[in-house]
Amino acid sequence: MEPVDLFVIGGGSGGVRAARMAAQHGARVALAESGALGGTCVNLGCIPKKLYSYAAHYGEAFEESHGFGWSGPAPAFDWARLKRNRAIEIMRLNGVYEKLLVGAGVQLMRGSATLRDPHTIEVGGERVRAAHILVATGGAPHRPEFPGQELALTSNEMFDLEPFPRRLLVIGGGYIACEFATIFAGLGSRVTQLYRGAQVLRGFDDDVRAFVAAEMVKKGVDLRLNANLASLRRELGSLKATREDGGTLEVDAVLVATGRWPNATGLGLEAVGVQLNEHGAIVVDEEFRTTVPHILAVGDVIDRVQLTPVALAEAMVVVDRLFGEGRRRIDYDNIPTAVFTHPNIGTVGLTEAQARERHGRLRIYRSEFRPLKHTLSGSTERSLMKLVVDDATDRVLGVHMVGAEAGEIVQGFAVALKAGATKAVFDATIGIHPTAAEEFVTMREPVA
Ligand code: NDP
Repeated sequence: MEPVDLFVIGGGSGGVRAARMAAQHGARVALAESGALGGTCVNLGCIPKKLYSYAAHYGEAFEESHGFGWSGPAPAFDWARLKRNRAIEIMRLNGVYEKLLVGAGVQLMRGSATLRDPHTIEVGGERVRAAHILVATGGAPHRPEFPGQELALTSNEMFDLEPFPRRLLVIGGGYIACEFATIFAGLGSRVTQLYRGAQVLRGFDDDVRAFVAAEMVKKGVDLRLNANLASLRRELGSLKATREDGGTLEVDAVLVATGRWPNATGLGLEAVGVQLNEHGAIVVDEEFRTTVPHILAVGDVIDRVQLTPVALAEAMVVVDRLFGEGRRRIDYDNIPTAVFTHPNIGTVGLTEAQARERHGRLRIYRSEFRPLKHTLSGSTERSLMKLVVDDATDRVLGVHMVGAEAGEIVQGFAVALKAGATKAVFDATIGIHPTAAEEFVTMREPVA
């Protein structure tokens, strides 16, 4: 094969974006992917997860509809149909990704790529010379060691699980554990979640953590804090889980959601001098160059922020540096994020604890309420909204929400934070009535 200007290893969010953009700049580009195009986000993460989250909401929507006058026979949930429809949609997206790449002129190579020397990549016996190489191989679920760990599943296996787990045990307290716990509870599983720490979602605002944990419990998750799994054993038709405190539990499936680790080994990177850190992530500088400067890396494999939009932004910086004007930078401050628990979390900026450490005196605005919809729905779900404001400058440092569509709402407020909005600007903004979001521009009194 002809030499290329850029060889991309990995057809996930970061890799596909980089390959397409580089080709659009006129570069000769090849991309190798051994699995389905779209990577974790499209195939085993964000997209199928969100589809299953929608599915889970219908269960409660039917119940809530009674308060609004609807009635009828209890609906039944068909797991097989959901899985089938999801698979069809994901296959459609795989095709869209392929079209985008091929349409942009990217040479697509199906197979695992290995570096043979600093400029040569081999895929399925074929060798390609490349001026630059971008590693965008993502990450994979990490399984902790415990007796019987091979009986546990990771998020990769949850989407096609057969049969539907009537009783599910979830280990972990991060994004994936909390999302899957509430999604499967919504779909009808009896869910128990064990988290080793004192409160789930370490790193999020403490009010948000406590609030969402309480809401998750209301949604039916049996959340056990300061608890961890010791061992797992098959027993007749089920699994017997033993906790570290000796308690036992019988379930149909166990999901371990205890973090994702970078996919950086087996590519021949270390042999050509690319350095990995103690967590196995590729070490890069601010322009995403590895210790071998013409080899670059973005996304989960560099383990900075494991979020698709961050990988996309990093890929754009790389392409701009290599083939554009080289002025694009990425700012890791104020990255908004959502956790698709039921209800969702949406957050941007600093937590109260982070803000107190960095800025000292703060004003905290907090509102907790029953959403209008639930005045008739019969649901006891509540929402939380919180603003963290720097007292000295009046700048809003953090926007946090737990409630329906929190991700959709906080995305807009993230623009305001990026623009450096003060609380006075929030106050001068007219609300949209009646919405939950208007609460963010109508909170007047700081909490004591
Ligand atoms: P996280 O890092 O978010 O959470 C891992 C959890 O597992 C933590 O609660 C951690 O506890 C716990 N844990 C780690 N090791 C062990 C162990 N040995 N035994 C018991 N518990 C353990 O990882 P996830 O796997 O949930 O997700 C990976 C990343 O993917 C996220 O951080 C996020 O960046 C991204 N993601 C984003 C989503 C979104 O945008 N909505 C959705 C899903 C994933 P402790 O806190 O005590 O260390």
